[in-house]
Amino acid sequence: MDSVTKQSGYPKEVFFLGAGASVSGRVPTFANFRDKANEVLYNMKQEGGNRDRIPLFQNALNYWNENFNDYNIEEYYSAIEMDEQLNHNNSITTENLKDFIGLTIDILRKPLNTLSYKYLVKYKVAKAIITTNWDILLERSITELEGTIFDKNAYINYIAIQSCDEIDPKTLTPIMLSTPIMKLHGSLNWCYCSKCGNIYYFNQPMYDALYSFDNVKCRKHKDIRLMPFIVPPTLSKLEKPEPNVKSPYSQLSSIWSKASEYLRSCEKIYFIGYSFPETDAQMRIFISNALKENSNLKEIIIVSNQKNGYSKVDFEERYNSILSKARSNPKLICNYNGFEEFCKDLAK
Ligand SMILES: [Zn+2]
Repeated sequence: MDSVTKQSGYPKEVFFLGAGASVSGRVPTFANFRDKANEVLYNMKQEGGNRDRIPLFQNALNYWNENFNDYNIEEYYSAIEMDEQLNHNNSITTENLKDFIGLTIDILRKPLNTLSYKYLVKYKVAKAIITTNWDILLERSITELEGTIFDKNAYINYIAIQSCDEIDPKTLTPIMLSTPIMKLHGSLNWCYCSKCGNIYYFNQPMYDALYSFDNVKCRKHKDIRLMPFIVPPTLSKLEKPEPNVKSPYSQLSSIWSKASEYLRSCEKIYFIGYSFPETDAQMRIFISNALKENSNLKEIIIVSNQKNGYSKVDFEERYNSILSKARSNPKLICNYNGFEEFCKDLAK
């Protein structure tokens, strides 16, 4: 491990981002997802565009209200998934719900606020960013900083994922090359080919485009229509690929491995806008295992919005049960000023 950690430019600081980091960028969270989806449906009806999606939205929302009214989107998805595994039929499938989730976030994407992410990107320390978010505020902030405004050559260091366009190496800049970004749940700008199993990225969210058109094709297989790749909020995120079947999950596994490697060797970890939800046992184990092995870790910084009373106690208890596993007895700092303020401070 030592020879690896001493390598120059190896990330000393790891930023682990949850949904709370994208709230200031106006991306929906699990908690407000139903309101946002209703807003999208309302606008589709008012504006008359995108009419082909109205039945999907109507069905997903009605079924949610009638059967799982007290569940958030994550619990709703898990309930439908469990029913499918038990062979109980619902009038909605997990495939429908994936489209519902992807389209809601994609369609709601304007206007975006990337300012906080820009401060984070510009923060001059060898760092790695691990995110559970599907939105592409982070990527957009990088390309905006580079002045490339999402032209087709923008390069993002996703570790294992290639651009769907050939990238001209001359266009690569230090910012683009330096920060590895590991998206553990896939991304709205990722698509996979069912023939080669490769995931490719685009420079814009693709869910809406792939839902409506069939002309987005694999770089190698011009006859294969690409499929969006987001990993739903569920227990079986890293299903084992079947032997001899080309699966995008092998690339996703390499991303998780790299994330684990960075978490095991860094000196500082920031958890931002992430609350270790009860439904995500897998993530708790993933983080705990890394902390158990990291002997370099000096500091853990938790960044969250203001919390009071029981919700603060509950939040800190959930963190304590995980951070108590840390091998190196790191210093713990809780910052309740929120992501925006935190990023402004980073910029100082
Ligand atoms: Zn292909």
